[in-house]
Amino acid sequence: MPQKLVGITCSTTAGTATEVPRQFINRAYVRAIEQAGGVPILIPNLADNSMVERYLSVLDGLMLSGGVDVAPDYYDEAPHPALGEIDSLRDGTEMALAKRALESDMPVFAICRGFQLLNVLLGGTLYQDIPAQKPSDIYHRQSDINLARPEFCHSVSIHKGSRLAEIVGSCEMMTNSFHHQALKDVAPGLTVTAHAPDGVIEAFESPDYRYLVAVQFHPEETAVHDDKSHRLFTAFVNAL
Ligand code: MN
Repeated sequence: MPQKLVGITCSTTAGTATEVPRQFINRAYVRAIEQAGGVPILIPNLADNSMVERYLSVLDGLMLSGGVDVAPDYYDEAPHPALGEIDSLRDGTEMALAKRALESDMPVFAICRGFQLLNVLLGGTLYQDIPAQKPSDIYHRQSDINLARPEFCHSVSIHKGSRLAEIVGSCEMMTNSFHHQALKDVAPGLTVTAHAPDGVIEAFESPDYRYLVAVQFHPEETAVHDDKSHRLFTAFVNAL
């Protein structure tokens, strides 16, 4: 059987006076899929969203990666002053990709921004800024305390009986954390499967689809040294 093809969504830079605009992805996403036995392919952000159909026609699975904030228009809110950078090209492409992938029951694994985007796509809402709207004594943006990307920042408790618990083989895991937004209202049809100690939602899944697992943390950065993180990628690739 040929190896399975995993589409990974990209980030874009707007460009500055000294730097041209770029589409890019952190190497860790590619490495994590590769080490799980999948074949990664990068999907750029497109001006013409009808092109997503052509990508989906060759993909076996879709991985929504991390990145900037989802535009609050998608959940009918005005921008909060602490809202971060927005990428409308990326919002459009990823919303179209995720919608069509779920409609065709293609397995989807979503990370960080991807986790938030899926919740919004399916009818949920976000806290636009955790420090302003849901203050916590836990750092969810570990760069604020100078922790590197592969380092752990906080624990999450995982719901017993969930697919996530089965995948990682535990009801507890350590995670890194690089988000200033969080899930507020959870979309209908999604089952929350993990919380941080302060109650912030850190994972969901859905029994309505063949494979839909989404996490707020970045297991692609910790998969090299943490078996539970690595298993999130092998479980996804094995489900394709
Ligand atoms: Mn967190």
